[in-house]
Amino acid sequence: MGKNHPNVDSYVVSRVRALESLLIEKGILAPDAVDAVVRRYEQDTGPLLGARAVARAWSDPAYRERLLADGRAAVAEFGGEVDTLLVVKENTPEVHHMVVCTLCSCYPWPVLGLPPTWYKQPAYRSRAVIAPREVLREFGTEIAEQREVRVWDSSSEMRYMVLPMRPPGTEALSEEELVALVTRDSMIGVTEIPQPAAVR
Ligand code: FE
Repeated sequence: MGKNHPNVDSYVVSRVRALESLLIEKGILAPDAVDAVVRRYEQDTGPLLGARAVARAWSDPAYRERLLADGRAAVAEFGGEVDTLLVVKENTPEVHHMVVCTLCSCYPWPVLGLPPTWYKQPAYRSRAVIAPREVLREFGTEIAEQREVRVWDSSSEMRYMVLPMRPPGTEALSEEELVALVTRDSMIGVTEIPQPAAVR
């Protein structure tokens, strides 16, 4: 199956349905087991676990240290289970980090939920490395010339998450309010978090 096969989605969907039916029929899989996994990634996890870790890191310097030292262990403090190494890269006024998987589509599912479609596409996977600033611009992200852009290539054993910069004017916000500001794309590193309108 080529990556650019036009019917790849419907083909995969059909195969998955057939496999699921067969597994249920054979009594190997409980009928609601797959739904539970999908729900876990779509709703329960979403990018929420990542957002919680980011908001905590902004609010608690000791947690920030732990998150940067060992992402997997720090995320486990929220009950999150990451089955790979999780490296957290902190954005600063000097450096902007961005995550890609050039080989396929490795993504930190447990912290960010389902990967966006563009993340899996060849255009992003190749161009993020060759022309990161150009790709960022397409996401509406302008990184100043003097600020370095670093691109991190994920693998099956090593996943990356970006710790975005805390937007200015959010000093008075609670940790819960901060969680709501953190977007999936900012943790992939293709966007930054704008100053919220309410505090502008
Ligand atoms: Fe991959």
